[in-house]
Amino acid sequence: MIVSIASGKGGTGKTLVATSLALSLKDRERVQLLDCDVEEPDVHIFLRPVITRSEAVYIQVPEVDEKKCTYCGKCAEVCAYHAIAVLGKHVLVFPELCHGCGACSYLCPEKAISEVGKEIGVVESGQSDGVDFVHGKLAVGEAMAPPIIRKVKAQANSDGTVIIDVPPGTSCPVVEAVKDSDFCLLVTEPTPFGLNDLVLAVELVKELKIPCGVVINRAGVGDRKVEEYCTKENIPVLLTIPMDTDIARIYSRGITLVEGMTQWKESFLELFDRIQEIAHERSHSLKR
Ligand code: SF4
Ligand code: SF4
Repeated sequence: MIVSIASGKGGTGKTLVATSLALSLKDRERVQLLDCDVEEPDVHIFLRPVITRSEAVYIQVPEVDEKKCTYCGKCAEVCAYHAIAVLGKHVLVFPELCHGCGACSYLCPEKAISEVGKEIGVVESGQSDGVDFVHGKLAVGEAMAPPIIRKVKAQANSDGTVIIDVPPGTSCPVVEAVKDSDFCLLVTEPTPFGLNDLVLAVELVKELKIPCGVVINRAGVGDRKVEEYCTKENIPVLLTIPMDTDIARIYSRGITLVEGMTQWKESFLELFDRIQEIAHERSHSLKR
């Protein structure tokens, strides 16, 4: 069972939900938390894992042998990302724009392009108080999050429950992190901004054909438009977390909700039971 925790925008409480869900479940079953928010991973701040394994992540970028090159321009033509340019008798490579797709080396008629590994980040894994933990970290100045997210997800346990903390937004890294999930939990807040970004996130998960539900965080700060939207779209609101200075205080000290206020554990276990029910209903209806 893979449950991704996403939000259309940052700062809605995605990590609060992911960490508390993992810690609530750990006494019941094997649970692993993957932090795929590789540009700003923060799960480790709350779980304080002991890291036992670290692996650099590379993408393959082109290197041109100008002795073989005829400056035909084919490589620049095929590069969708403008990461390689031919100017007169010079071929310029911009590694920071390169997506490592390999098209230029494959299509070079003179076989003048070889590929060299470029380090773009790291994947670290370990344990935190009964929770298996993996996160990715994109190196400063790098822009290519999806290859690191793929490496993080490659370490997903095949048994037990896997919880994925997804990057905020609705762009490529989000798609990479959410795809293949059995369920996507969308965390939002009851404000016009929250609703706007929730609508975009719902469209994304619908496109990916992943069942979803909503957690409303900081309930009480805004209006009821998020609930009205969820009712209209038949999306279940599975948990509501109120705007509460005590919650804000413990969270700002790097303490998870279920550790700082243990009474929340039952709510997170009920949340997971509902997720399982919905995901199973969905998989049965697809089989029928
Ligand atoms: S495609 Fe190959 S031969 Fe043509 S300009 Fe690029 S590197 Fe040179
Ligand atoms: S590997 Fe792909 S993205 Fe990188 S320069 Fe070549 S064609 Fe462009």
